[in-house]
Amino acid sequence: MDERKEAGGGEDELFFSMRLLEWYNGQKRDLPWRRSRDPYKIWVSEIMLQQTRVDTVIPYFNRFIERFPTIDALAEAPEEEVLKAWEGLGYYSRARNLQSAAQQVKELYGGKVPDDREAVFGLKGVGPYTAGAILSIAFNRPEPAVDGNVMRVLSRFFLIEDDIAKPKTRIKMEALAKSLIPEGEASSFNQALMEHGALTCTPKSPRCLVCPVMERCAGRLAGVETELPVKTKAKPPRPEERLAALVEGRGEHAGRVLIRQRPTRGLLARMWELPHWPAPGDIGAGSGRPGEAAAMDRLRRSLAEAGVAARPEAYMMAAEHTFSHIHWTLQVYRCREEELPQPMAAEARGLYAAGSGAAAGGDAPGGEPALLLPGAEQPGLFADEGGAEEERPDMRWIGREDMANYAFPNVFLKLLNAYFDGQEAAGRR
Ligand code: SF4
Repeated sequence: MDERKEAGGGEDELFFSMRLLEWYNGQKRDLPWRRSRDPYKIWVSEIMLQQTRVDTVIPYFNRFIERFPTIDALAEAPEEEVLKAWEGLGYYSRARNLQSAAQQVKELYGGKVPDDREAVFGLKGVGPYTAGAILSIAFNRPEPAVDGNVMRVLSRFFLIEDDIAKPKTRIKMEALAKSLIPEGEASSFNQALMEHGALTCTPKSPRCLVCPVMERCAGRLAGVETELPVKTKAKPPRPEERLAALVEGRGEHAGRVLIRQRPTRGLLARMWELPHWPAPGDIGAGSGRPGEAAAMDRLRRSLAEAGVAARPEAYMMAAEHTFSHIHWTLQVYRCREEELPQPMAAEARGLYAAGSGAAAGGDAPGGEPALLLPGAEQPGLFADEGGAEEERPDMRWIGREDMANYAFPNVFLKLLNAYFDGQEAAGRR
């Protein structure tokens, strides 16, 4: 990036800023978070938009604001409800951070989002992009809000060939973006940049022919617009094969399935899921469906070690879940709860009542806490996933009607819905 491009204020820079602003003012989309300057709403929308398209975000945003209309409402809500409202959006740590930050705002700033740079940066989960978006959009402060979309637009228009995956490029881009903000127009200009990246200067096929700044776009004039921005590829997520159990209850649990809660920290913290474990290397790891007999035997042992008496009966399906650094392939088996011999069942009940060897009770939001086999070796279950060594998972038997009370990662939500749909269809036949 040369000095001229960094400085802003040149003819091209002025042209870019004014044209984009004019274009935005003429045809900006009517989006729910644009109907007010409420920094809380802008903040929520920006966090949601970091991971998902506008069309998908709108219903989530409306429901979230209806349920948590103010900072105080979000700060005081049970975490489970916040996660449930976020369910399907992914990146659940963002929802947790948003709630923690709301609690900070409530305690430190009386429930009002501060308009001070230092204070906004000090909020949990608020990085340079979100801080810039809140300060500029809500308070019209001349702060840049630079994300991947904005870097793409700037790379193309100013023909910048620096690698946008590098932190120093981001810093340069922020300086450039800040220098481009017309006086008194931070709110509209930053939104214009974002809108342009979302609607016109799109990643794969930029719509140059209808672009308001086409005539001076250096990337386009050089014929390299689709080669920009330059970005080195991140390492692909590490593949991990896992065996998952969809355990159907019997007797008093008939019609229900077993779910467990993830640990208090680490991946998908405190969300609910079907029990699953890493598939040993000799069970077809990485090659799709594992050898059934060996997999079922392994799953049965894992269930027993976790305190669940259940027998795998049939392979159901494979399901995928991708994190930034890990890609899970879950081989899901339908399992059936086994009846415990009377003395063992009595012991399990006794252990549960005594508060050991069973799920940490708490207030069950529907569903029924699972009784676990005496002697189950549950602590350390999630140690390889960032959970604490001493944590024991909470397990519940739930029916479809209970699903609304638990927050599930998408992959398990889909599995459970598919299962209950199948059961209902079978019941109608
Ligand atoms: S002309 Fe094309 S590449 Fe250049 S800013 Fe417009 S849409 Fe993007």
